[in-house]
Amino acid sequence: MQGVDLHTHSNISDGTLTPELLVQTAIEKGIHTLALTDHDTMDGLKIAEQVAKNQPIQIISGVEISSQWSRPATQKSYGVHIVALNIKNPEPLQALLEEQKKIRAERAKQICDLLTPLIGFDIYADVIAKVDGEADRITRTHIAKTLVDKGVVARPQQAFDKYIKEGKKAYVKFDGLGLEETIKIIHESQGFAVLAHPTRYDLSATNIRYLIEIFAQFGGDAVELPPYIEAASTRQMVDRMIEQFNLKVSVGSDFHGDNMPWIKLGNIPKVKEGQVGIWESFS
Ligand code: AMP
Ligand code: MN
Ligand code: MN
Ligand code: MN
Repeated sequence: MQGVDLHTHSNISDGTLTPELLVQTAIEKGIHTLALTDHDTMDGLKIAEQVAKNQPIQIISGVEISSQWSRPATQKSYGVHIVALNIKNPEPLQALLEEQKKIRAERAKQICDLLTPLIGFDIYADVIAKVDGEADRITRTHIAKTLVDKGVVARPQQAFDKYIKEGKKAYVKFDGLGLEETIKIIHESQGFAVLAHPTRYDLSATNIRYLIEIFAQFGGDAVELPPYIEAASTRQMVDRMIEQFNLKVSVGSDFHGDNMPWIKLGNIPKVKEGQVGIWESFS
């Protein structure tokens, strides 16, 4: 189990390492199974696979999809990230990702337009410069970093807390594909659907349990184990849900390079006895 990391970002999305450097760093760290899971894009995979050729590392094709779910009783919809892994037939997913990229580009412009009256100037051109002019790669991390560059806030986290996280004035929801459809398309692509970081959505314990339950009902394959820093009781709750719904587990660091320097590549939680790793199903 050591040497596996199934959730990582390159600078194709909001990581800081190029796909080449990510793979090289992983090899140096003794990682033998690495999934590149950029936000709503698989564009870094080809290079990662090329670099990994004849090296002691296997690249697992992946992508982290911005999806959403809702509780019928409340009408409210919540964002959720679904990691697709080991994709054997990329066409259905690629078609979905083209739509997701359009949403991403339009949303970035909307966020910047909402920010303009709040901060007194338009940062869109500077945000675009951070992604080589490719607007469909813009994440809120890029917007947060631009707000730091411009002296609006001191640290990226403050940009989220003051302006762009849910509930703040420049927040724009990612209106992505629903959870059930997302899982269906991942399966059409012969990949595995993994519920990413279930404890990182600011949900109540009740809603986390509900999310895991509907994820299982919709045919989801595995749940990502919470990182070490989570309380033991939180991990136990997730473990119980995994067991109850007969789900497999996935392990990933959610590495973002220097954008989140406290997260180390390959730093993954321990799998509990009896839990079955999704990587055992990879072909
Ligand atoms: P996006 O997909 O554009 O909504 O951007 C999501 C990314 O922003 C996540 O993958 C994190 O890397 C980062 N992020 C989301 N929420 C926060 C937060 N509250 N504080 C810091 N970073 C965050
Ligand atoms: Mn991210
Ligand atoms: Mn995520
Ligand atoms: Mn991620």
